[in-house]
Amino acid sequence: MPELPEVETVRRTLNQLIAGKRIERVTVNLPRILQKPDDPQVFAAMLEGRTFQSVERRGKFLRLVLDGLVLISHLRMEGRYGLYGKGEPVELHTHVLFHFTDGTELRYKDVRQFGTMHLFAPGDEWIAAPLNKLGLEPLDESFTPDEFRRVLGRRKTKIKPLLLNQEVVVGLGNIYVDEALHAAGIHPETPADELKRKEQEKLHAAIVATLAAAVEAGGSSIKSYVNGQGEMGLFQHSLRAYGRTGEPCLVCGSPIEKSVVDGRGTHVCLKCQKPPRASLGSLADAAPRRRSNANAKANAVKRRLDGAER
Ligand SMILES: [Zn+2]
Repeated sequence: MPELPEVETVRRTLNQLIAGKRIERVTVNLPRILQKPDDPQVFAAMLEGRTFQSVERRGKFLRLVLDGLVLISHLRMEGRYGLYGKGEPVELHTHVLFHFTDGTELRYKDVRQFGTMHLFAPGDEWIAAPLNKLGLEPLDESFTPDEFRRVLGRRKTKIKPLLLNQEVVVGLGNIYVDEALHAAGIHPETPADELKRKEQEKLHAAIVATLAAAVEAGGSSIKSYVNGQGEMGLFQHSLRAYGRTGEPCLVCGSPIEKSVVDGRGTHVCLKCQKPPRASLGSLADAAPRRRSNANAKANAVKRRLDGAER
């Protein structure tokens, strides 16, 4: 699934390709992509005669601004846009076509058919689903260390699933969460409320730096991701944790290990990212370390408590 850097790359490319183009008509081949309105004829009629002014982004959503209308588009797993000339063969899985007055066509293709499109009167997009519940925008200047600390708050949730929650911070998916946590030296299972102020600040800086570097590189090309112009992103060559299972950590040389956190494949260096105390029991058995008696006793108590909970 494209994450913030990939969607930002698509946004920039699309903005160059379609800003100023006027829609003559719209063809919908797969109505289920349309969420609002869900009637293809109404959808097409609303767009006809309008001009794309700019392409913006909120989280992983594209915000295509027209004169008097806003189109919110989510690519989900495999959605992608491309600009074609009239008469070029229409590829399989092309679900929506915007025919422009200049003879070109913006085509939306989506093999998995999970993508969505919503139309709104300008301004209304902010007060309704899907944009109304989105969290902090990590590349916006409003994403300050203080704001980040405020949303982390006193939540006991593990930090990785918390960062994946789009109502907390937008745009982060499995790749960039693993990258940011490795860069900050924080274990993905650390409860958010156990992060010290220094760690919160380090994580904030790591999120911004990781996403900015990935945007600069044009995103990552895990699987078949291709941006609007058909170029591959380059950031997959800069990944430090994600997808590097068994390869040496770029900081300390220990092998990157893969585990599962809340159902998501997770890449971690156990030397740079110390597991939280609660999960030390099992990991300590695998990698024996010197512990004080007090620690051993605390862990024994903890294990008994864990057992009692089950
Ligand atoms: Zn390491």
